[in-house]
Amino acid sequence: MRTLDQSSAHYVESQVFLAGGVASSLRSAMKPVPLFAAEGSGPRLQDADGHEYIDYLLGYGPLLLGHGHQAIVSGIHEALKRGTTFGLQHIGEIELARRLTELLPCAEQVAISGSGTEAVMLALRLARAHTGKRKIVRFHGHYHGWADSIFTSFPSSDMRQSDSVVSTDLILPGTGGQSQLALEDIILLPWNDPEALEVTLRQNHGEIAAIISEPVMCNSGCILPKPGYLERMRELTEELDIVMILDEVITGFRLGLGGAHGKFGLKPDLVTIGKALGGGIAISAVVGRKDIMDLIASGTVSHLGTLNGNCIATAAALATISELSKDGGAVYSRLEQTASQLVEGIRGLFAKNGIAGIINQAGAVFHMMFTRELKVDDFASFNQRDVARYAEFAAYLLHEGILVRPNGLWYVSTAHGLREVDETLAAVDRVFQKLQ
Ligand code: PLP
Repeated sequence: MRTLDQSSAHYVESQVFLAGGVASSLRSAMKPVPLFAAEGSGPRLQDADGHEYIDYLLGYGPLLLGHGHQAIVSGIHEALKRGTTFGLQHIGEIELARRLTELLPCAEQVAISGSGTEAVMLALRLARAHTGKRKIVRFHGHYHGWADSIFTSFPSSDMRQSDSVVSTDLILPGTGGQSQLALEDIILLPWNDPEALEVTLRQNHGEIAAIISEPVMCNSGCILPKPGYLERMRELTEELDIVMILDEVITGFRLGLGGAHGKFGLKPDLVTIGKALGGGIAISAVVGRKDIMDLIASGTVSHLGTLNGNCIATAAALATISELSKDGGAVYSRLEQTASQLVEGIRGLFAKNGIAGIINQAGAVFHMMFTRELKVDDFASFNQRDVARYAEFAAYLLHEGILVRPNGLWYVSTAHGLREVDETLAAVDRVFQKLQ
Protein backbone atom coordinates (compact mmCIF):
# COMPACT_ATOMS: atom_id res chain seq x y z
CA MET A 1 0.00 0.00 0.00
CA ARG A 2 1.20 3.51 -0.77
CA THR A 3 1.73 5.77 2.22
CA LEU A 4 -0.05 9.08 1.89
CA ASP A 5 1.63 10.79 4.84
CA GLN A 6 2.15 14.16 3.15
CA SER A 7 -1.40 14.31 1.78
CA SER A 8 -2.76 13.32 5.20
CA ALA A 9 -0.66 15.94 7.00
CA HIS A 10 -1.57 18.66 4.47
CA TYR A 11 -5.25 17.78 4.83
CA VAL A 12 -5.08 18.15 8.61
CA GLU A 13 -3.43 21.54 8.16
CA SER A 14 -5.77 22.66 5.41
CA GLN A 15 -8.79 21.96 7.60
CA VAL A 16 -7.48 24.57 10.03
CA PHE A 17 -7.32 27.34 7.44
CA LEU A 18 -9.52 26.29 4.54
CA ALA A 19 -13.22 25.84 5.20
CA GLY A 20 -13.90 22.13 4.79
CA GLY A 21 -10.22 21.52 4.02
CA VAL A 22 -10.89 21.59 0.26
CA ALA A 23 -11.68 24.35 -2.26
CA SER A 24 -14.70 22.56 -3.79
CA SER A 25 -16.88 20.38 -1.53
CA LEU A 26 -16.87 17.39 -3.88
CA ARG A 27 -13.13 16.91 -3.41
CA SER A 28 -13.51 15.78 0.20
CA ALA A 29 -15.11 12.52 -1.06
CA MET A 30 -11.75 11.01 -2.06
CA LYS A 31 -10.68 8.08 0.14
CA PRO A 32 -8.57 7.41 2.14
CA VAL A 33 -7.69 11.11 2.02
CA PRO A 34 -8.18 13.98 -0.47
CA LEU A 35 -4.96 13.72 -2.42
CA PHE A 36 -2.59 16.69 -2.63
CA ALA A 37 -1.03 17.14 -6.08
CA ALA A 38 2.55 18.25 -6.68
CA GLU A 39 2.71 18.36 -10.48
CA GLY A 40 1.26 16.87 -13.63
CA SER A 41 2.62 16.05 -17.05
CA GLY A 42 0.58 14.62 -19.95
CA PRO A 43 -1.60 11.75 -18.68
CA ARG A 44 0.17 11.49 -15.33
CA LEU A 45 0.46 13.39 -12.09
CA GLN A 46 2.58 13.18 -8.99
CA ASP A 47 1.17 13.62 -5.50
CA ALA A 48 2.73 15.35 -2.50
CA ASP A 49 4.22 12.00 -1.33
CA GLY A 50 6.05 11.57 -4.65
CA HIS A 51 3.77 8.80 -6.00
CA GLU A 52 2.90 8.82 -9.68
CA TYR A 53 -0.61 8.21 -11.02
CA ILE A 54 -2.23 7.80 -14.41
CA ASP A 55 -4.85 10.50 -14.18
CA TYR A 56 -8.48 9.86 -15.18
CA LEU A 57 -9.84 12.62 -12.94
CA LEU A 58 -8.23 15.20 -15.23
CA GLY A 59 -9.24 18.13 -13.05
CA TYR A 60 -12.91 16.95 -13.22
CA GLY A 61 -12.87 17.25 -17.01
CA PRO A 62 -10.99 20.31 -18.26
CA LEU A 63 -7.69 18.57 -19.11
CA LEU A 64 -8.76 17.13 -22.45
CA LEU A 65 -5.19 17.63 -23.73
CA GLY A 66 -3.64 16.30 -20.51
CA HIS A 67 -1.47 18.17 -18.01
CA GLY A 68 0.81 20.98 -19.13
CA HIS A 69 0.18 20.70 -22.88
CA GLN A 70 2.90 22.68 -24.64
CA ALA A 71 0.52 24.64 -26.88
CA ILE A 72 -1.54 25.84 -23.90
CA VAL A 73 1.51 26.63 -21.78
CA SER A 74 3.08 28.66 -24.63
CA GLY A 75 -0.20 30.42 -25.39
CA ILE A 76 -0.48 31.48 -21.75
CA HIS A 77 3.19 32.56 -21.55
CA GLU A 78 2.83 34.73 -24.66
CA ALA A 79 -0.33 36.34 -23.27
CA LEU A 80 1.25 36.88 -19.84
CA LYS A 81 4.03 38.97 -21.35
CA ARG A 82 1.43 41.53 -22.42
CA GLY A 83 -0.70 41.47 -19.27
CA THR A 84 -3.23 39.34 -17.43
CA THR A 85 -6.42 41.36 -17.51
CA PHE A 86 -7.26 44.90 -18.49
CA GLY A 87 -10.94 45.35 -17.78
CA LEU A 88 -10.94 46.54 -21.39
CA GLN A 89 -11.71 44.74 -24.60
CA HIS A 90 -8.91 42.88 -26.34
CA ILE A 91 -8.53 41.08 -29.64
CA GLY A 92 -8.35 37.63 -28.02
CA GLU A 93 -12.03 37.87 -27.07
CA ILE A 94 -13.07 38.52 -30.66
CA GLU A 95 -10.83 35.73 -31.96
CA LEU A 96 -12.29 33.28 -29.48
CA ALA A 97 -15.90 34.29 -30.10
CA ARG A 98 -15.39 34.09 -33.88
CA ARG A 99 -13.80 30.64 -33.58
CA LEU A 100 -16.68 29.39 -31.44
CA THR A 101 -19.24 30.63 -33.97
CA GLU A 102 -17.31 28.78 -36.69
CA LEU A 103 -17.17 25.49 -34.81
CA LEU A 104 -20.40 25.18 -32.81
CA PRO A 105 -23.40 24.75 -35.11
CA CYS A 106 -25.83 26.65 -32.86
CA ALA A 107 -23.47 29.57 -32.13
CA GLU A 108 -24.42 32.86 -33.79
CA GLN A 109 -23.03 34.89 -30.89
CA VAL A 110 -21.03 34.24 -27.74
CA ALA A 111 -20.95 35.54 -24.13
CA ILE A 112 -17.83 34.65 -22.12
CA SER A 113 -17.85 33.95 -18.36
CA GLY A 114 -15.60 32.19 -15.86
CA SER A 115 -17.35 28.96 -14.81
CA GLY A 116 -20.02 26.53 -15.95
CA THR A 117 -22.26 27.70 -13.12
CA GLU A 118 -22.12 31.29 -14.37
CA ALA A 119 -22.81 30.25 -17.95
CA VAL A 120 -25.91 28.35 -16.83
CA MET A 121 -27.09 31.36 -14.78
CA LEU A 122 -26.78 33.58 -17.84
CA ALA A 123 -28.52 31.11 -20.15
CA LEU A 124 -31.50 30.84 -17.78
CA ARG A 125 -31.69 34.60 -17.48
CA LEU A 126 -31.62 35.05 -21.26
CA ALA A 127 -34.38 32.47 -21.65
CA ARG A 128 -36.63 34.19 -19.11
CA ALA A 129 -36.06 37.62 -20.63
CA HIS A 130 -36.64 36.30 -24.15
CA THR A 131 -39.91 34.51 -23.41
CA GLY A 132 -41.26 36.68 -20.57
CA LYS A 133 -41.94 33.40 -18.72
CA ARG A 134 -40.57 32.07 -15.41
CA LYS A 135 -40.43 28.30 -15.10
CA ILE A 136 -37.47 26.10 -15.99
CA VAL A 137 -37.73 22.38 -16.76
CA ARG A 138 -34.76 20.34 -15.62
CA PHE A 139 -34.17 16.61 -15.16
CA HIS A 140 -33.43 14.08 -12.44
CA GLY A 141 -29.75 13.17 -12.33
CA HIS A 142 -28.48 16.16 -14.31
CA TYR A 143 -26.14 18.71 -12.74
CA HIS A 144 -25.98 22.33 -13.86
CA GLY A 145 -23.73 23.94 -11.26
CA TRP A 146 -24.42 25.16 -7.79
CA ALA A 147 -26.37 28.41 -8.27
CA ASP A 148 -29.42 28.70 -5.97
CA SER A 149 -31.89 28.83 -8.85
CA ILE A 150 -30.93 25.44 -10.31
CA PHE A 151 -29.09 23.35 -7.68
CA THR A 152 -31.44 20.59 -6.58
CA SER A 153 -30.94 17.44 -4.60
CA PHE A 154 -33.21 14.97 -6.33
CA PRO A 155 -35.13 12.48 -4.22
CA SER A 156 -33.92 8.91 -4.52
CA SER A 157 -36.02 6.58 -6.65
CA ASP A 158 -37.87 5.05 -3.66
CA MET A 159 -39.18 8.51 -2.63
CA ARG A 160 -40.64 9.21 -6.04
CA GLN A 161 -44.40 8.88 -6.42
CA SER A 162 -44.22 7.77 -10.00
CA ASP A 163 -41.62 7.66 -12.69
CA SER A 164 -43.53 9.93 -15.01
CA VAL A 165 -44.41 13.48 -14.01
CA VAL A 166 -42.81 14.31 -10.67
CA SER A 167 -44.49 16.70 -8.26
CA THR A 168 -42.61 19.94 -7.71
CA ASP A 169 -43.20 19.43 -3.96
CA LEU A 170 -40.40 16.88 -4.04
CA ILE A 171 -37.73 19.27 -5.22
CA LEU A 172 -35.18 19.53 -2.46
CA PRO A 173 -32.51 22.22 -2.23
CA GLY A 174 -29.03 20.98 -3.13
CA THR A 175 -27.44 22.51 -0.02
CA GLY A 176 -28.11 23.99 3.36
CA GLY A 177 -28.51 27.76 3.21
CA GLN A 178 -30.30 27.67 -0.14
CA SER A 179 -33.63 29.43 -0.34
CA GLN A 180 -36.45 26.98 -1.04
CA LEU A 181 -38.07 29.89 -2.91
CA ALA A 182 -35.20 29.86 -5.41
CA LEU A 183 -36.43 26.49 -6.65
CA GLU A 184 -40.09 27.44 -6.98
CA ASP A 185 -39.66 27.99 -10.69
CA ILE A 186 -38.19 24.52 -11.32
CA ILE A 187 -40.14 21.65 -12.83
CA LEU A 188 -38.21 18.42 -12.35
CA LEU A 189 -38.79 15.56 -14.81
CA PRO A 190 -37.37 12.13 -15.53
CA TRP A 191 -34.99 12.31 -18.48
CA ASN A 192 -35.25 10.27 -21.66
CA ASP A 193 -39.04 10.03 -21.22
CA PRO A 194 -40.66 11.72 -24.22
CA GLU A 195 -44.21 11.21 -22.92
CA ALA A 196 -43.54 12.90 -19.55
CA LEU A 197 -41.87 15.73 -21.44
CA GLU A 198 -44.70 16.24 -23.90
CA VAL A 199 -47.45 16.08 -21.25
CA THR A 200 -45.66 18.61 -19.02
CA LEU A 201 -44.79 21.00 -21.83
CA ARG A 202 -48.28 20.97 -23.32
CA GLN A 203 -49.90 21.51 -19.92
CA ASN A 204 -47.53 24.24 -18.70
CA HIS A 205 -46.04 25.91 -21.76
CA GLY A 206 -47.61 29.25 -20.89
CA GLU A 207 -45.29 29.41 -17.86
CA ILE A 208 -42.18 27.58 -19.11
CA ALA A 209 -39.28 29.76 -20.26
CA ALA A 210 -36.69 27.05 -20.85
CA ILE A 211 -35.68 23.44 -20.73
CA ILE A 212 -32.13 22.76 -19.65
CA SER A 213 -30.64 19.34 -20.30
CA GLU A 214 -27.26 17.67 -20.56
CA PRO A 215 -27.15 16.15 -24.07
CA VAL A 216 -25.66 12.99 -22.55
CA MET A 217 -26.48 12.41 -18.86
CA CYS A 218 -22.78 12.46 -17.92
CA ASN A 219 -23.42 13.36 -14.28
CA SER A 220 -25.50 10.22 -13.65
CA GLY A 221 -24.26 7.19 -15.53
CA CYS A 222 -23.10 8.72 -18.82
CA ILE A 223 -26.44 7.76 -20.35
CA LEU A 224 -27.04 8.51 -24.02
CA PRO A 225 -30.29 10.10 -25.16
CA LYS A 226 -32.78 7.61 -26.60
CA PRO A 227 -33.02 7.87 -30.38
CA GLY A 228 -35.30 10.78 -31.21
CA TYR A 229 -35.59 12.11 -27.64
CA LEU A 230 -33.59 15.32 -28.01
CA GLU A 231 -35.05 15.83 -31.49
CA ARG A 232 -38.55 15.61 -29.95
CA MET A 233 -37.44 18.10 -27.29
CA ARG A 234 -36.35 20.43 -30.10
CA GLU A 235 -39.70 20.09 -31.94
CA LEU A 236 -41.79 20.68 -28.84
CA THR A 237 -39.77 23.64 -27.59
CA GLU A 238 -39.92 25.27 -31.02
CA GLU A 239 -43.67 24.76 -31.25
CA LEU A 240 -44.38 25.99 -27.71
CA ASP A 241 -42.05 29.00 -27.54
CA ILE A 242 -39.68 27.48 -24.98
CA VAL A 243 -35.93 28.09 -25.09
CA MET A 244 -33.97 24.85 -25.43
CA ILE A 245 -30.67 24.99 -23.55
CA LEU A 246 -28.18 22.16 -23.87
CA ASP A 247 -25.69 22.18 -21.02
CA GLU A 248 -22.47 21.09 -22.71
CA VAL A 249 -20.13 22.02 -19.87
CA ILE A 250 -18.83 18.41 -19.96
CA THR A 251 -19.52 17.43 -23.58
CA GLY A 252 -18.43 20.70 -25.25
CA PHE A 253 -15.17 19.99 -27.14
CA ARG A 254 -14.95 16.59 -25.40
CA LEU A 255 -17.35 14.85 -27.80
CA GLY A 256 -16.11 16.71 -30.85
CA LEU A 257 -15.32 20.17 -32.18
CA GLY A 258 -19.03 20.89 -32.54
CA GLY A 259 -19.90 19.51 -29.10
CA ALA A 260 -22.66 16.96 -28.58
CA HIS A 261 -25.16 19.08 -30.50
CA GLY A 262 -22.84 19.06 -33.51
CA LYS A 263 -22.41 15.31 -33.21
CA PHE A 264 -26.14 14.67 -32.85
CA GLY A 265 -27.11 17.18 -35.57
CA LEU A 266 -29.21 19.32 -33.22
CA LYS A 267 -29.73 23.06 -33.14
CA PRO A 268 -30.66 24.12 -29.60
CA ASP A 269 -31.32 27.81 -28.93
CA LEU A 270 -28.53 28.18 -26.36
CA VAL A 271 -25.57 26.01 -25.33
CA THR A 272 -23.34 26.35 -22.28
CA ILE A 273 -19.71 25.25 -22.49
CA GLY A 274 -16.86 25.28 -19.96
CA LYS A 275 -14.37 22.71 -18.62
CA ALA A 276 -12.46 21.46 -21.75
CA LEU A 277 -12.75 24.87 -23.42
CA GLY A 278 -10.05 26.36 -21.18
CA GLY A 279 -7.75 23.32 -20.90
CA GLY A 280 -7.48 23.94 -17.13
CA ILE A 281 -7.94 27.72 -17.01
CA ALA A 282 -11.26 29.14 -15.78
CA ILE A 283 -13.45 30.09 -18.73
CA SER A 284 -16.96 29.29 -19.91
CA ALA A 285 -19.40 30.59 -22.49
CA VAL A 286 -23.00 30.76 -23.53
CA VAL A 287 -23.40 30.48 -27.29
CA GLY A 288 -26.56 30.58 -29.35
CA ARG A 289 -29.18 32.46 -31.29
CA LYS A 290 -28.38 36.06 -32.07
CA ASP A 291 -31.91 37.31 -31.40
CA ILE A 292 -31.69 35.91 -27.85
CA MET A 293 -28.08 37.05 -27.27
CA ASP A 294 -29.15 40.50 -28.50
CA LEU A 295 -30.86 40.96 -25.12
CA ILE A 296 -27.36 41.62 -23.80
CA ALA A 297 -26.65 44.21 -26.51
CA SER A 298 -29.91 46.00 -25.81
CA GLY A 299 -29.14 46.14 -22.06
CA THR A 300 -32.20 44.05 -21.16
CA VAL A 301 -30.04 41.29 -19.69
CA SER A 302 -26.95 41.99 -17.58
CA HIS A 303 -23.87 39.88 -18.16
CA LEU A 304 -21.16 40.82 -15.66
CA GLY A 305 -17.85 39.60 -14.28
CA THR A 306 -14.57 41.37 -13.47
CA LEU A 307 -12.41 38.68 -15.03
CA ASN A 308 -14.71 37.67 -17.92
CA GLY A 309 -12.68 37.17 -21.09
CA ASN A 310 -9.35 37.90 -19.42
CA CYS A 311 -6.28 37.49 -21.62
CA ILE A 312 -5.01 34.32 -19.95
CA ALA A 313 -8.35 32.55 -20.25
CA THR A 314 -8.87 33.47 -23.91
CA ALA A 315 -5.28 32.52 -24.75
CA ALA A 316 -5.73 29.11 -23.10
CA ALA A 317 -9.05 28.55 -24.91
CA LEU A 318 -7.64 29.60 -28.28
CA ALA A 319 -4.62 27.32 -27.86
CA THR A 320 -6.88 24.42 -26.85
CA ILE A 321 -9.17 24.91 -29.82
CA SER A 322 -6.31 25.32 -32.25
CA GLU A 323 -4.75 22.09 -31.03
CA LEU A 324 -8.04 20.17 -31.19
CA SER A 325 -8.91 21.44 -34.65
CA LYS A 326 -5.62 20.43 -36.32
CA ASP A 327 -6.28 18.26 -39.40
CA GLY A 328 -10.00 18.86 -39.10
CA GLY A 329 -10.21 17.39 -35.58
CA ALA A 330 -8.39 14.14 -36.43
CA VAL A 331 -7.34 13.83 -32.79
CA TYR A 332 -10.88 12.82 -31.80
CA SER A 333 -10.76 9.41 -33.45
CA ARG A 334 -7.57 8.54 -31.53
CA LEU A 335 -9.08 9.89 -28.32
CA GLU A 336 -12.21 7.77 -28.72
CA GLN A 337 -10.13 4.76 -29.65
CA THR A 338 -8.11 5.07 -26.42
CA ALA A 339 -11.29 5.42 -24.36
CA SER A 340 -12.86 2.42 -26.14
CA GLN A 341 -9.77 0.27 -25.56
CA LEU A 342 -10.09 1.01 -21.84
CA VAL A 343 -13.82 0.39 -21.79
CA GLU A 344 -13.61 -2.88 -23.73
CA GLY A 345 -10.66 -3.97 -21.58
CA ILE A 346 -12.51 -3.34 -18.31
CA ARG A 347 -15.63 -5.08 -19.65
CA GLY A 348 -13.42 -8.07 -20.40
CA LEU A 349 -12.05 -7.96 -16.85
CA PHE A 350 -15.59 -7.87 -15.43
CA ALA A 351 -16.26 -11.12 -17.29
CA LYS A 352 -12.91 -12.73 -16.44
CA ASN A 353 -13.33 -12.02 -12.72
CA GLY A 354 -17.06 -12.82 -12.56
CA ILE A 355 -17.91 -9.29 -11.45
CA ALA A 356 -21.26 -7.74 -12.36
CA GLY A 357 -20.71 -4.30 -13.80
CA ILE A 358 -21.63 -1.90 -16.56
CA ILE A 359 -19.78 0.84 -18.40
CA ASN A 360 -21.58 3.52 -20.41
CA GLN A 361 -19.31 5.44 -22.76
CA ALA A 362 -19.75 8.67 -24.70
CA GLY A 363 -16.52 9.30 -26.60
CA ALA A 364 -13.75 10.29 -24.19
CA VAL A 365 -15.84 10.03 -21.01
CA PHE A 366 -17.38 6.96 -19.43
CA HIS A 367 -19.11 5.85 -16.26
CA MET A 368 -18.17 2.56 -14.62
CA MET A 369 -20.60 0.96 -12.17
CA PHE A 370 -20.87 -2.21 -10.12
CA THR A 371 -24.45 -3.29 -10.65
CA ARG A 372 -26.61 -6.34 -11.31
CA GLU A 373 -28.79 -4.34 -13.74
CA LEU A 374 -28.60 -5.58 -17.33
CA LYS A 375 -28.46 -2.00 -18.59
CA VAL A 376 -28.30 1.45 -17.05
CA ASP A 377 -30.33 3.72 -19.29
CA ASP A 378 -32.21 5.93 -16.85
CA PHE A 379 -31.83 7.54 -13.44
CA ALA A 380 -33.74 4.73 -11.69
CA SER A 381 -31.41 1.97 -12.99
CA PHE A 382 -28.40 4.22 -12.29
CA ASN A 383 -29.50 4.42 -8.65
CA GLN A 384 -29.25 0.62 -8.31
CA ARG A 385 -25.44 0.66 -8.55
CA ASP A 386 -23.26 -0.30 -5.58
CA VAL A 387 -21.82 3.06 -4.58
CA ALA A 388 -19.81 1.76 -1.61
CA ARG A 389 -18.17 -0.99 -3.67
CA TYR A 390 -17.08 1.49 -6.32
CA ALA A 391 -15.59 3.82 -3.67
CA GLU A 392 -13.65 0.83 -2.29
CA PHE A 393 -12.49 -0.02 -5.84
CA ALA A 394 -11.37 3.59 -6.44
CA ALA A 395 -9.42 3.62 -3.16
CA TYR A 396 -7.62 0.35 -4.09
CA LEU A 397 -6.91 1.73 -7.56
CA LEU A 398 -5.28 4.79 -6.02
CA HIS A 399 -2.75 2.48 -4.38
CA GLU A 400 -2.11 0.90 -7.78
CA GLY A 401 -1.23 4.32 -9.21
CA ILE A 402 -4.49 4.98 -11.01
CA LEU A 403 -6.42 8.13 -10.11
CA VAL A 404 -10.18 8.03 -10.73
CA ARG A 405 -13.11 10.02 -9.44
CA PRO A 406 -14.78 8.17 -6.53
CA ASN A 407 -18.21 8.31 -8.21
CA GLY A 408 -17.36 6.24 -11.31
CA LEU A 409 -16.92 8.89 -14.02
CA TRP A 410 -13.65 8.53 -15.97
CA TYR A 411 -12.22 11.21 -18.26
CA VAL A 412 -9.66 10.36 -20.96
CA SER A 413 -7.26 12.83 -22.57
CA THR A 414 -5.39 13.01 -25.87
CA ALA A 415 -2.20 12.42 -23.85
CA HIS A 416 -3.34 8.92 -22.81
CA GLY A 417 -2.10 6.12 -25.06
CA LEU A 418 -1.65 2.39 -25.27
CA ARG A 419 0.95 2.38 -22.49
CA GLU A 420 -1.50 3.99 -20.06
CA VAL A 421 -4.31 1.67 -21.19
CA ASP A 422 -2.18 -1.45 -20.62
CA GLU A 423 -0.97 -0.28 -17.18
CA THR A 424 -4.51 0.65 -16.18
CA LEU A 425 -6.03 -2.65 -17.24
CA ALA A 426 -3.35 -4.61 -15.37
CA ALA A 427 -4.09 -2.55 -12.24
CA VAL A 428 -7.86 -2.98 -12.60
CA ASP A 429 -7.36 -6.75 -12.91
CA ARG A 430 -5.32 -6.85 -9.68
CA VAL A 431 -7.92 -4.77 -7.84
CA PHE A 432 -10.81 -6.92 -9.12
CA GLN A 433 -9.06 -9.93 -7.63
CA LYS A 434 -8.89 -8.16 -4.25
CA LEU A 435 -12.57 -7.23 -4.47
CA GLN A 436 -13.75 -10.84 -4.85
N1 PLP B 1 -22.99 21.91 -16.03
C1 PLP B 1 -22.52 20.65 -16.05
C2 PLP B 1 -23.13 19.66 -17.00
C3 PLP B 1 -21.48 20.26 -15.20
O1 PLP B 1 -21.06 18.99 -15.21
C4 PLP B 1 -20.92 21.23 -14.34
C5 PLP B 1 -19.81 20.87 -13.45
O2 PLP B 1 -19.45 19.73 -13.27
C6 PLP B 1 -21.44 22.54 -14.36
C7 PLP B 1 -22.46 22.84 -15.23
C8 PLP B 1 -20.86 23.59 -13.46
O3 PLP B 1 -19.61 23.97 -13.92
P1 PLP B 1 -18.54 24.67 -12.94
O4 PLP B 1 -18.12 23.61 -11.97
O5 PLP B 1 -17.46 25.12 -13.86
O6 PLP B 1 -19.27 25.80 -12.28
